[in-house]
Parts: sequence; C-alpha cells; structure tokens
Amino acid sequence: MGLLFLGTPLSWEDAEKHAEHVRFHGITQFLHTWDRLKDRHGDEFLWGDEVEYMVVAMDDEKKDARLSLRQTEILAKLSSIVGDLSSGCPDSVSVPNFHPEYGRYMLESTPGSPYTNSIPDLLSVEANMRYRRTLARKHLKPHEIPLTLTSYPRLGVPGPFTEPYFDPADAVSSHSLFLPEEITNPHVRFPTLTSNIRQRRGSKVAINLPLFFDTNTPRPFIDPTIPWDRSIYPEDSEAKAGAALPDHIYMDAMGFGMGCSCLQLTFQSCHVADARRMYDALVPMGPILLALSASSPIWRGYLADVDCRWNVIAGSVDDRTEEERGLKPLEKSRFQIPKSRYDSVDMYLSTDWINRPEYNDNPLPYDESIYARLREHGIDDLLSKHISHLFIRDPLVVFTETLDQDDETSSDHFENLQSTNWQTLRFKPPPPNSPIGWRVEFRSMEVQMTDYENAAFAVFVVLLSRAILSFKLNFYVPISKVDENMVRAQRRDAAHTDKFFFRKNVGTATSSAASSNCSSGCSSPVNGTPAKERKLRNCFPDPPLRENGVHLPPVEEEYEEMTMNEIMNGKGADFMGLLGLVTVYLETLDIEPDELAKIHGYLDLIRQRSNGSLLTPATWMRNFVRSHPAYKHDSVVSAEINYDLIRAIDEIERGVRKADDLLPTDYTGSREDSGSIGL
Ligand code: ADP
Ligand code: MG
Ligand code: MG
Ligand code: MG
Ligand code: MG
Ligand code: MG
Repeated sequence: MGLLFLGTPLSWEDAEKHAEHVRFHGITQFLHTWDRLKDRHGDEFLWGDEVEYMVVAMDDEKKDARLSLRQTEILAKLSSIVGDLSSGCPDSVSVPNFHPEYGRYMLESTPGSPYTNSIPDLLSVEANMRYRRTLARKHLKPHEIPLTLTSYPRLGVPGPFTEPYFDPADAVSSHSLFLPEEITNPHVRFPTLTSNIRQRRGSKVAINLPLFFDTNTPRPFIDPTIPWDRSIYPEDSEAKAGAALPDHIYMDAMGFGMGCSCLQLTFQSCHVADARRMYDALVPMGPILLALSASSPIWRGYLADVDCRWNVIAGSVDDRTEEERGLKPLEKSRFQIPKSRYDSVDMYLSTDWINRPEYNDNPLPYDESIYARLREHGIDDLLSKHISHLFIRDPLVVFTETLDQDDETSSDHFENLQSTNWQTLRFKPPPPNSPIGWRVEFRSMEVQMTDYENAAFAVFVVLLSRAILSFKLNFYVPISKVDENMVRAQRRDAAHTDKFFFRKNVGTATSSAASSNCSSGCSSPVNGTPAKERKLRNCFPDPPLRENGVHLPPVEEEYEEMTMNEIMNGKGADFMGLLGLVTVYLETLDIEPDELAKIHGYLDLIRQRSNGSLLTPATWMRNFVRSHPAYKHDSVVSAEINYDLIRAIDEIERGVRKADDLLPTDYTGSREDSGSIGL
C-alpha cells in the first residue's frame, strides 16, 4: 500500500494548504517520466501477484478466534530471516517479499522477483504462493494462522475480536464506534490517512451494507450492537442522526474496508500504447472476476445480502465533502465527484479506433488547468483526461520533509495522488531509476481461501491477457455498463443468478489478427501455420486499421446481458466464451503435456465456479454459517460459529478437511509442498 516514508505528516489543516504544490509537482514528475519513457519499447512480459493475509489467533479451549495484532513483530522476523533464506529457497521460487498493510493483523506477500514469460514460471505461481504462506506460518506463534480471507467476519463486534483486546473508545484517528486505534498499522501514514479522510469529508465515513434477512431476523432490523448513545467523540451522534440505516450493517471507519484482503496482479507491457490497450481490455473484466471470486458475505458479525468487499472499501475511504457528493451546492469544493477515490475505473485509455468515444460515457470531472498543461506538453486527450481526472483529488498524507523534491528523479508527489486513487485497474508508469516498464494492475479480485484457487485465478487472468493481445480481442462496452456490472457483481450469488453486460462479438475487424505482424519486434510467422510459441508473448499485433466505409453499428447493439456461465463457457455458435478463447490460445503454445494438464486443472476450477458446479467462497461460507448447529437463523455470526468457520477454512487450506462443493475432489491442500521446500 503505497510508500512508507518515515517522517512528519501534516495535519489535514496544513496538508490542505500544500495540495496545489503536490499536484503541480506531481504533474511535473509525470511529464519527466513521460518524456523519458514514452518511446520505450520491447519490454518483455513480466508479471507478479500480491496476496494479503490476516493473522488469526486461535483459542481452542474457549473456541474463540481473534485477529492477532502482531504485524510489526512478524514482519521484523520475516525480513530478518528472508535475508539468509536464499539457500533454503526451492529453485522455482525467489526469496519472497513481505509488506505491511493497513490492518495491524495483515501481511502482504509478493514473489521476490516478477515471474517471466515462461510457462514454467506461470506454473510456479501456486508453489510460490504456498511457499510464502508456509514461510509466514513458520514465523507465527503456534496458535496463529495466516488466512487468506477477504473480510474478517467479526471485525468490529462488541467485546474482544483482537488479540490483545483494545477498547474502541481510544480510536483517536477514526473516531469509530467499533474499531480501536490499534486495528491500524502504527506507521504514521495509516493513522494520518484515517484521520485526514474523516476531516476532509467533514464526518466519519458511513457504510451501510444490506443485511441478509433470515427466517428469525427481526424486521425492521435496528442493530442492537451499535453503541447508539456513546459520547466520546463529536461524531458519536452521527449514527443516531441518520448515518446508520435500519435493515443494514453500519460501519464507520477506514479499517472496515482497508482491513480487507485481496488478490492483485500486475502485468508489464511492451510499451505504453500496449499498456493502454491491456488496461482497456481488462476494465470490463473487473466486475466479472469480482463476482466470480466473491468471498466476503459476513461483516461485523452479521450475514450480509452482498458477497463482495468492493462497496465497503469504496465507502471506507470516501473523503468527498458534502459539496463534492452533491448534497450541497458547490462553494468551497471545486467539483461534484460521482465516486469515491476507491472505485471502478472511469474511462478507457487507448487511442485505437476500436475504443469508440461513445464508450467513455461516465461523467468525468477533471482539473482543467492540469489537462491543459498535459495537452500543451503533447499528451493526447485520453491520457490527459485520465491523469487530470485522478488529480481532482487532494493528497491526503503530506510529509514536511519531502515537500521539496527533485522532480526529475522523484515520483513521490505523482505517486501520492496516483496510489490513493484506488481503482479496479491501475495504469502504472515506470518508476524513475528502475528497469521497470509500463504496467497495468488488475485489482478487483477477492482473495481465495487456498493458494490453489488464488493461483487458478492468476493463471486464468494471465492467459486471458495473452489471448487478448494475441487475438486482439475487443471487450469494449460503455463504461457505464461496466459500472452497472460492478453493482450486480456484489449481489448475493451474482455469479450464478445475475446477468452482466458483455460484448457479443469480441473479435476485431481483421480476422488474421493472431498471426499478423507487430511493429515491436515480436516473432511472427512468415507463411502458413505459425510456429508454436514457447513463451507468453507481450505485444499486440499492429492495431487493425479502420477500413473506409465500414459502418459501425450503434453501440447498444454491440452488447447484451449474459450469465457468468455464458461469458466464461460460451453462448451458442458465435461466442466460445473466455475459457474457450484461452483454450484456443493455449493451442498456439509449445507446452509439455504435463504442463498443459496442470493449466487445464486451474481452468477447470474457473469453469466449475462459473457454471455453478462449484460454489463461490462467499456462498460456501454463507452455507457453512446457515447450517451450523449454533446458528439461530437470525443473521448473527457468533464467536463460536466464527471460530468453527475459521478452523474449517484453515483445515481446507491444509487439505485435512474436504469441501467438495468448493474445490475439485482431488484438491490435496498445502501440506504436500511444505516438505519439498526445505522448511
Ligand atoms: P503495489 O502495492 O504498488 O501494487 P507491489 O510492489 O506490492 O505493488 O506489487 C507489485 C507486483 O508487481 C509484484 O507482484 C511484483 O512481483 C510485480 N512486479 C515487479 N516488477 C514488475 C515488472 N517489471 N513488471 C510486472 N510486474 C512486476
Ligand atoms: Mg496490498
Ligand atoms: Mg502491494
Ligand atoms: Mg506497494
Ligand atoms: Mg488492501
Ligand atoms: Mg497492488
């Protein structure tokens, strides 16, 4: 999560005064990067994942599971051992990285170096993820476990849910009724973010998730666990004054969202234009893979009527003022802003003609002076809009020590805004002084309970991204329809009961796109059957030219509503589905039979999740709760049910408990690999 510079953060009052300064120099820094790297060409396909864990402390006697707040000690241990690990590392795995995250119970891990374009690297992801989890587990106390859970079911319930216990009365940064100060990573950046969001907004954040009504849930539901009459902080009265809605699960702090875990993937592109193509192609995949990876049905001790984290995080960092939210006429604020700074992408970026202007149909406030500056510098309309749209926000954390920077060698001011615009996709310019190229980060997926599943999602998205560029697939639908899909994706069991807007014909104008040449030095067949490729390629074929006189249909005729099963597994003769496309792409590769079998194992998981023969993690968890003997059918997930759920998840992950409705019957768990990695 962004940069962890140690310094003196400014209070909101002072930070606000420097907002223009940070934005101005942030743009200067971007322009330096642009000038240096706009023509950079030929970067190979490097990619990596990010997995976030929650450390849970189990008390088997009391049957209680609590979040362990030992992030600082655990990370210190991990970084000290990681130094002498190189020898113990299996060949396929480079020494991993562990990073802090918002929650003091969280860890993030990434591979030590990015994966390359080779098939063995693609197939090392699962072992890499397992190695990282095993390494984390090794450095926990015996009663602690590293879980890949998207939301912690009992975060913010009355009484102890952390180890050790802290009283929410001490929440000086968030003023939360539910989360203590100690839930947050102690590095100054995090409490400052929390506090400055609240102050900029002018109230606490307010998240209301629809409650799942079970047979014994009282109606209307007025939450008895909210301390309605607390009076410690000035905002304590907000809940009663209307911030907490009946029939909803109310949450009032950044930690409810930023304390969630997810699975992210970053792909390096061949050059900047290809990064923009890849970005656009993955934008419509954001909600689709959110729905398919859904894993967060329980919030603050209640079953919710949604399965995903997205709206919770969006609400948890929503720093917009009342004016910006359109509740009051604009006086002090500069823009009305339709979305939180954590939300879905607002515009497509590619300058290819297949990106029709009609697709960018969302309202798009942008900073006109920044836009003008970028345009004067020679940057095209779309990229200038993208950057000047991100830069309508204020920097939230400003350090006195780093106000003045060398704009040629630093990108800190740029990153200050860039990395606090948390969208479904992130277009990442190369950092200064590094060998890294233009990248795209795919950010919508929920983390799965096992590394087998996390690897399956990673492998699927990587292969889909390569199919997209090899076949120059066209996934464009109007961005407002992608947003409508985001709404649908979060509904209970959306993957099996909802429909999503999707493009009917995903081909491009030229039928031979797969074998056409590319200007960027990638291999291309000369005549006849193309030679099979040994590596995952990294550049798009030359964009198809728009043929004169070709009449484009009205945009509304290009898409329709499809089920998840249709999107993934195909619909009639015209659309083979995304898994079909990936399968055809695999046929262009030179892969060993055992490698192919392993890949098809992962694709089968995705297939079964999308055709309903396996449950999403969210549905599996909801069913677990609803069939627990202690469940009273009143939507409440008690400490005892939570303990059993956490225990079950850990056992499934290790392969000592079966879950045949969630995982393929031959799933064996993470035990197997730990022997072979020398721990
Ligand atoms: P952030 O939190 O800013 O998204 P992280 O550093 O946590 O970024 O994760 C970045 C991911 O990108 C890691 O998986 C890393 O292995 C991967 N990565 C690193 N360098 C490259 C590169 N040149 N191209 C693609 N991915 C890369
Ligand atoms: Mg993270
Ligand atoms: Mg990260
Ligand atoms: Mg980071
Ligand atoms: Mg996070
Ligand atoms: Mg990331």
